[in-house]
Amino acid sequence: MYLYNSLSHKKELFQPNSPDVVKMYTCGPTVYHFAHIGNLRTYIMEDVLEKALRYMGYNVKRVMNITDVGHLASDADTGEDKMLKGAKRENKSVMEIAQYYTDAFFADCDKLNIKKPDIIQPATGCIAEFIAMVEGLLEKGFAYVAGGNVYFDTSKLEKYYVFNDHDEEDLAIGVREGVEEDTNKRNKNDFVLWFTKSKFEDQALKWESPWGVGYPGWHIECSGISMKYLGEDLDIHCGGIDNAFPHHTNEIAQSESFLGHKWCNYWFHVHHLNTDTGKMSKSKGEFLTVSLLESKGYDPMAYRLFCLQSHYRRNLVFSWENLDNAAVAYEKLVAKIATLKDGGDIDEAALAALKERFAGALNGDLNTSLAVTALYDVLKAKTTDATKLAALADFDTVLSLNLLAAAKAVREKEEAEAAASADPEIDALVAARTEAKKAKNYAEADRIRDELKARGIEIIDTPQGAKWRRV
Ligand code: AMP
Ligand code: ZN
Repeated sequence: MYLYNSLSHKKELFQPNSPDVVKMYTCGPTVYHFAHIGNLRTYIMEDVLEKALRYMGYNVKRVMNITDVGHLASDADTGEDKMLKGAKRENKSVMEIAQYYTDAFFADCDKLNIKKPDIIQPATGCIAEFIAMVEGLLEKGFAYVAGGNVYFDTSKLEKYYVFNDHDEEDLAIGVREGVEEDTNKRNKNDFVLWFTKSKFEDQALKWESPWGVGYPGWHIECSGISMKYLGEDLDIHCGGIDNAFPHHTNEIAQSESFLGHKWCNYWFHVHHLNTDTGKMSKSKGEFLTVSLLESKGYDPMAYRLFCLQSHYRRNLVFSWENLDNAAVAYEKLVAKIATLKDGGDIDEAALAALKERFAGALNGDLNTSLAVTALYDVLKAKTTDATKLAALADFDTVLSLNLLAAAKAVREKEEAEAAASADPEIDALVAARTEAKKAKNYAEADRIRDELKARGIEIIDTPQGAKWRRV
């Protein structure tokens, strides 16, 4: 499988450290608010990546953190802890907020068929691990204490900017206007590993540490949790592109300094979902959630399809019109699948050819839009319905669009409607018209059609025979 690696800035053949298991780490949500559909674009594409790796035959062990402490309002280590901000907004405790929005996040993931990672670890559960890592960094001379906080010293590194091909907007995140300088920092890019001197006296969660009562920085959480469950070597680390700097840059700095060797081989970054006014973000206050889409009548699967139709390394512009198009495409796709007949023989050669096209799309840097095209190719293929259904079931292990279940639901609904409107008298009249036509008695056939029309019944001639519906 070829994947674009943000670290080398090129597509590379993916090769895990061990053939037995792919070790995959995902930056989880900061649970101070609902996830917006931009966050969920990232999680959908990471879900597809995991499932594509499994499809290729790899066993995957995937870990995700839950950020429930230490993520400050600004990535430059200033501002309020986002969790505290959420707690104040809703007049609840930080832990109540964390639990509520963690549950809400996984409920959204469920609706979008995003599989739960094998391990989900809230940061507040690993404080001892973070402290041990900070101690190690201090011992090795990569960190210093200033003003009560512990900082990572970026001047000790040969190379700090490892993802230097981002556009300016992404790089500017850490140095947004209105962000005050932390004068304890020796170098502009130094970052906090452990806070004790939060200027917010009301920081809710604090723990004892060798440097005083305090709390961990956001970046150390992901390094610590990843190493706890996946060891010293990571195959692939994922996140949204805004995480590349400073979050992932800092993760690499501290992890490799701590370990004394390379840490993670592949970095997978999903580009943003934007609206016409820019990046969708929680801090802007107004954002779209899955529940909101549902309340407007959209099936979450339409949003998943919308995401799959574009490549993860391109910004995706959200508009209601674009979502409508995806919703219509999804409905049509499902309606088409609903016409396929169960049973019959699978043409193994044809199935293999269809699968090859699908795998080819995934292998080319997770080209999900081509993978969706491969779905349409199945429907157009000159092969048996059984083969088509087998191919669709196979592809849906990665795309997770509920295709067969949704098609079944459509069929059942149609059958129920047909049963509800069944009328033997009209069936008999339609049959009599068919007989009259066969006997070339067109006057009688027309008379029956007109009689039915007067009763609000329309006859539809199909290749399978005459059908009728109420109009
Ligand atoms: P957060 O909950 O803010 O920590 O973010 C969760 C994930 O969503 C991270 O991987 C972010 O990089 C990603 N993310 C944030 N905003 C967007 C966006 N507008 N489009 C896509 N991904 C995003
Ligand atoms: Zn992270």
